[in-house]
Amino acid sequence: MIVTRFAPSPNGPLHLGHAFSALTAHDLAARHGGRFLLRIEDIDGARSRPELADEFRRDLEWLGLEWDEVPAQSTRVANYDLMAHEVLYRALGVLYPCRCTRAEIAAAARETAPDGSAVYPGTCREHPVSGDTSHCAWRLDMARACAIAGPHVWTDELAGEQKARPELFGDVVILRKDAPASYHLAATMDDHADGVTLVTRGMDLFASTHVHRLLQALLGLSVPTWHHHALLLDGEGRKLAKRRESPALAELRLAGADGRALADRLRAHQLPAGISLSEGLHGCL
Ligand code: GLU
Repeated sequence: MIVTRFAPSPNGPLHLGHAFSALTAHDLAARHGGRFLLRIEDIDGARSRPELADEFRRDLEWLGLEWDEVPAQSTRVANYDLMAHEVLYRALGVLYPCRCTRAEIAAAARETAPDGSAVYPGTCREHPVSGDTSHCAWRLDMARACAIAGPHVWTDELAGEQKARPELFGDVVILRKDAPASYHLAATMDDHADGVTLVTRGMDLFASTHVHRLLQALLGLSVPTWHHHALLLDGEGRKLAKRRESPALAELRLAGADGRALADRLRAHQLPAGISLSEGLHGCL
């Protein structure tokens, strides 16, 4: 059975881009008699506003969607920690503590990862942290991890088979300083735990899948298929965010707009003036 999910982070209200993503995941499952899951990804440190989760549920209902909800990430923190320390650190020896600040990394970094972040220059791998690690992030030793995992491929329904290239990201953070786990670890473990077979999300997360595929190989997790859908873009061609031409779904809902009619227009790619749908996989690796 096909299982898809919508996994919003309650860092801000949902907007049209989220509605498009939720509809895509919902409809892919519905078309094949599958399940559509909602998972609240509420471990984003200070940015997370858990109270928004209820608004999200009301927004999805207003769009006419039905879903099964799985536990929010904040309830699974102990699992992320256990997996990171027991498997990645103890059993595989591919995790190390890092106390570099963002500014230090930015100053020393020579490369940029596909998601636009600075590739970690390897300072704390080369000069291991001694003593107290309680204020450290934990990073993956990417070269060792790739050597252990070997080569892998993954499949996007739209883009076809991809050779996994996690090395482009360098030593990614697995456990954050300011939050319980990184997006990469939490999303990968949860998709496995929730039985997701078709990871449906925006194309902006296409390249992250290289890292997720590596983690699946290292941790013995199930390997789904992916569906990275096109993004809604604003007038300047940037990924849509909440702003004037793209109000929050909650604002539209409270103003009395018809959510089901909006959902049908999004399904038919009838977008409000100034908003367009991205084409192809430009910018994705
Ligand atoms: N929580 C992520 C977000 O809101 C989505 C993660 C995913 O779909 O894998 O951007």
